[in-house]
Amino acid sequence: TSAAIDEPIKPSIQIDHTQLLINGKFVNSASGKTFPTYDPRTGEEIAHVAEGDAEDIDRAVAAARKAFDEGPWPKMTAYERSRIMLRFADLLEKHTEEVATLETWDNGKPYEQAANIEIPKVVRMFRYYAGWADKIHGLTMPADREYHVQTLHEPYGVTGLIIPWNFPLLLYSWKVGPALACGNTVVLKTSEQTPLSALYVSKLFHEAGLPPGVLNVISGFGPTAGAALCSHMNVDKLSFTGSSATGKVVLGMASSSNLKPVTLELGGKSPFIVCKDADVDKAVDLAHFALFFNQGQCCCAGSRTFVHESVYDEFVEKAKARALKRAVGDPFKKGTEQGPQIDNAQFQKILKYIRSGIEGGATLETGGEQLGSTGYYIKPTVFSNVKDDMLIATDEIFGPVQSILKFKDLDEVIQRANATSYGLAAGVFTQSLETANTLTRALRVGTVWINCYDIFDAAIPFGGFKMSGHGREKGIYGLSSYLQIKAVVSPL
Ligand code: NAD
Repeated sequence: TSAAIDEPIKPSIQIDHTQLLINGKFVNSASGKTFPTYDPRTGEEIAHVAEGDAEDIDRAVAAARKAFDEGPWPKMTAYERSRIMLRFADLLEKHTEEVATLETWDNGKPYEQAANIEIPKVVRMFRYYAGWADKIHGLTMPADREYHVQTLHEPYGVTGLIIPWNFPLLLYSWKVGPALACGNTVVLKTSEQTPLSALYVSKLFHEAGLPPGVLNVISGFGPTAGAALCSHMNVDKLSFTGSSATGKVVLGMASSSNLKPVTLELGGKSPFIVCKDADVDKAVDLAHFALFFNQGQCCCAGSRTFVHESVYDEFVEKAKARALKRAVGDPFKKGTEQGPQIDNAQFQKILKYIRSGIEGGATLETGGEQLGSTGYYIKPTVFSNVKDDMLIATDEIFGPVQSILKFKDLDEVIQRANATSYGLAAGVFTQSLETANTLTRALRVGTVWINCYDIFDAAIPFGGFKMSGHGREKGIYGLSSYLQIKAVVSPL
């Protein structure tokens, strides 16, 4: 370890909401149990949060069922639903500072990133889906004989939404936004590492006029609360974001209970391909951003940087220089680019991958160890001479570790980029339209960013090929995953 991190800056807010949110009220868990949530800067407890389990999921599903079957939500006009969502977006925007503070405290992400990038995207997402609420409609279509045929697009009913810790509120918005816009009700299971911000903003949602039971929030663990939600017979649709390993378990529970449909957003090992004609300086900056953003804890992190041999040495030199300049420190401090990793388990896992890279013979250009001695800070790490079969090139590290690989020609890089069970995203860096087209068509991934990375506007669909998931979130594709289609046929 080296260079100490400054004394942690004390956040300027009180934590008021630590209970479960069921039927519009904050309540204790049925068992009375709580669990601690930790500050990743120090490993110290921030607060104790009610620990939901199967019984609480049952209560929440019952409330969501009632709000769907009897309650006002699906019976309201779509315009009224839209207005509540817009009011919520306004309230959230007004409370950006508090919400971003909670997000940073619980997750460790830079405050400026939360306040200036993520919360505005959450607000935008709710406005986007509020705009869709009253524009959902079916089609009429011709029949072979004399029938009138139309489709109705209807909500599923009770949706179970499960989110991870890396973007607690952003992923909340990707799921809660379209689910509610379509007229579904929701039971949300947040991540045990980051339960705080969802509780806070869901209270704002009720202030905006959301009826009780429409949005229920359960803090708790995966194998208890999460599993109860996935296997619940009265949940009509699941949407899960997390690791591919958990995704398999979730799908199994959905199919062995009531066969509820499942949207899965899972892990990745995304290639970032720098061709020989790329603008190297720009590619270095974007490759750095693609990997290190959010402490490297992104499902779509560009975690295999493939660089053409003709620009490889220059690229590695500049990538190292950029990593050395990265501002790592207290996420509440102005100008901080990188805060701590989420928790000790992730921190240890990342250090283990770094050791495997060194032992496997990759060249450690910079970083490779803890920064300071408290909390979970890791020095921005760059490996060159990485081979395809090294663990740092095959596994999702979920940390600030850039692996740079060398390639000779397009056919080879296409084959190597696709040689993974993941298929979430890819970056393509070239000034040739032809090369961009060739790579775009050949890569088996859900998103290709050409000469850019991590562009997440509300209308752009996001999701994976292969073991990176099923279905799409955001945009009109995300909306359709919360709608049933009913065909209605009558004689003319
Ligand atoms: P995780 O799979 O461990 O946990 C995700 C969520 O699932 C948590 O809320 C957890 O409590 C819950 N869970 C765990 N076990 C469960 C079970 N048996 N039944 C039901 N729920 C269960 O993942 P994580 O470590 O929190 O998040 C990191 C992973 O998420 C990475 O693999 C990352 O790539 C992925 N991710 C994907 C996307 C995407 O959109 N594709 C976005 C962000 C993160």
